[in-house]
Amino acid sequence: MTIEYFAEYLPRLKTTSIQINIPKEDIKTFKINNDSIILNSKILIKLPKIIDCFKIKETISKIGNNETNIRIQNLNNLEILIKDSSEFFLQDQYQWNIKNFQKDKFDYNEIKCNKCKKKLIELNEIKIFLPMPSELWYEMLDFWHCNKPNINNENDKNIGLLKKFNQLKPNFKNIIIGSYYFLINPEDWVDNILIDDSSSKELKCLNCNEIIGEFDENIGNFKILKWKLNLDNEEFKSYSFITLKIIEEMNFTGNRIFNLINEINGKIDKKFQIWCFGLGINIKLNKIGFLNNCLKIMYKESNDKIKNDILIEYDKPFKDFLNLIIMINK
Ligand SMILES: [Zn+2]
Repeated sequence: MTIEYFAEYLPRLKTTSIQINIPKEDIKTFKINNDSIILNSKILIKLPKIIDCFKIKETISKIGNNETNIRIQNLNNLEILIKDSSEFFLQDQYQWNIKNFQKDKFDYNEIKCNKCKKKLIELNEIKIFLPMPSELWYEMLDFWHCNKPNINNENDKNIGLLKKFNQLKPNFKNIIIGSYYFLINPEDWVDNILIDDSSSKELKCLNCNEIIGEFDENIGNFKILKWKLNLDNEEFKSYSFITLKIIEEMNFTGNRIFNLINEINGKIDKKFQIWCFGLGINIKLNKIGFLNNCLKIMYKESNDKIKNDILIEYDKPFKDFLNLIIMINK
């Protein structure tokens, strides 16, 4: 029989929970060994989080005919939980965040198109990297635009106000770093990135014509999607595009239940209902190894009416995300 297990560290409960396909009565011995546990002196299970404290509480319980759950709680673990909010996560807990572009010590040199690998942006040319202030602010711009001030002449006092609306348009050779995208000024890198004529909203790599992002008409910036890019031969995991959209939605709506909809050319291709639980969870699966800083969700294919839709207009990240969660839950 192949031993299959799933181990997760739940930071808020300071508990490691392991589910294994061995009946409870067959577990004769149990030993905790720092980063793993050993069952019956021979079955080694690697843990997603080191258990290094002496005061621990463990529970072994039956959860089916052939499955057992083992819970190990660190009773005197004084670790302070700061990683448990979506707001904290969105500061710098994602791939290619502001910390990777600190002054004079960039972790990367160039941004390339991931399809044709042609250089799009030379990072040495960037004057300032800025973190995205908050997605909420960005979304709110749509509402604010109802009262957007008019400018009648150059000395109009509304000019200052209008500038505030445009703060999300990066200055020349500045980049604003969002969780799943970069914002750039449309007048930079015109030799490499252009607006597609037919739709006038999609951005394309001039070399291979691949769609790499979209033009934001409201603010006038270029939003290029990280999963379409390549930084020094490193790819951005396309399923992260979906995960980060969900976390941003959690952050600025306060909701935890969403319809995740894959909409291709205005038609719904697939629809899932998802419930979001904890963030910052580490897991270990014998099939795929360690995954850190995860978002725990429940999901089902459904047509139930929920108000909160997350629309995904790209096929690949949606499919990759779906394949990943199916593989994890197999
Ligand atoms: Zn290209």
